Amino acid sequence: MKTLLTNIASLVTVRANGAPYITGEAMRDIDEILQGAILFGDTIEWVGTAEEAKHLDLADADLIDCSGKTVMPGFVDSHTHMVFAGSRAHEFARRVAGATYAEIAAEGGGILTTMKAVRQATEDELAANAQRLLQSALRHGTTTVEIKSGYGLDTETELKMLKIGTRCQVLGTHAQSPVPSTLSPVPSTSSPVPSTLSPVPSTSYLVPHVVRTFLGAHAVPPEWKRDPEGYVNIVINEMLPRVAEEGLAEFCDVFTDAGFFTVEQSTRILNKAKELGLKLKVHADEIALIGASQMAAELGCISADHLEHSTIEEVRILRDAGVVCTLLPGTAYTLRLPYPDARMMISEGAIVALATDCNPGSSYSESMPTIMSIACMNMRMSIEEAITASTINGAAALGISHLCGSLEVGKRADVVLYDTPSYKDIVYHYGVNQVRAGWVGGIRY
Ligand SMILES: [Zn+2]
Repeated sequence: MKTLLTNIASLVTVRANGAPYITGEAMRDIDEILQGAILFGDTIEWVGTAEEAKHLDLADADLIDCSGKTVMPGFVDSHTHMVFAGSRAHEFARRVAGATYAEIAAEGGGILTTMKAVRQATEDELAANAQRLLQSALRHGTTTVEIKSGYGLDTETELKMLKIGTRCQVLGTHAQSPVPSTLSPVPSTSSPVPSTLSPVPSTSYLVPHVVRTFLGAHAVPPEWKRDPEGYVNIVINEMLPRVAEEGLAEFCDVFTDAGFFTVEQSTRILNKAKELGLKLKVHADEIALIGASQMAAELGCISADHLEHSTIEEVRILRDAGVVCTLLPGTAYTLRLPYPDARMMISEGAIVALATDCNPGSSYSESMPTIMSIACMNMRMSIEEAITASTINGAAALGISHLCGSLEVGKRADVVLYDTPSYKDIVYHYGVNQVRAGWVGGIRY
């Protein structure tokens, strides 16, 4: 079954013409087609205007009238920690009232609170929580999500977390059973009248596409506090070989920062991961400048994430090495910290992506529109730059922009329909979910 969305008031394609990402001033050109139309099965087959669509052969297509609505590519959220257990609402409330993250961590809170909850949780409990968040992300317009391990911090629990990622990945990529259409059938012969949208069919199993990242080096767990080198050796010699052997991740990530892992330790971990065939990411320059961006460039990381403290020097190094700069403004917002310098990065021509960093401690949101609002208001990105950073450049941060991140012929039909006449409303009308419907690989939700 094919679907034609037509009479779309604002169709945003973020057309990249084969480029893997978009930088600089071109980030403002999101290719908006007024009165647009798009035809897709599980991949996109045609994009144009509603007028041109009248000449298509639509014999077996579902026609949907999108008057007064906006259609955009599904968001690609390239940095999340969505597999976790427990809640840190009490810590959040204390921070809102004035306690610092460091004070809470010193009392055994922070990442350790979540580590304990994840170690105790069953696989089913973890999977249920992850699925709840993934489905919520989908309802907010996200069709591809990266999820990391990193709350187990021992071999068995790290593998357990990645297996949850795998369960979700299977739901996301193999959800091929066709959803019965509840749209009223439309005669597809002469002058077809498009149907309007009926209630969303029940697709309770559907989640976004999932990309998995091993983050065993997220923090040194308490049992290794006196011997961090010993823990690094466990990550390299015990965890990574099993992750690779069991095919549990596409990426390896390391938290390279003051108080976490040194550049030397991180380099050893990432080199081993590369040797085992994993792609690389790094949490860089969040707390202090210790050379994490330089390391990311040297090792050929696909992305360096956070970058709150990066100066023009780090940014130029990342740009020249083609490393995506993934900004996570939800973290600075939640922790009331300074934001990364997005304006400088864009004017330097770096590849800038946005992601939620969804996690129970420092950024508890799976909503990309919320992140885009924060990016526009507090990092002074334009709405169009925020859209580019959340779609094609997010896909580049996962090395999959040939598959998704824009509405172009041949790409996956990851398409989202908003109940609003302009893409600008997605940032302007903030804090409100305007998603009306969407398709993941052509499957409607
Ligand atoms: Zn993170």
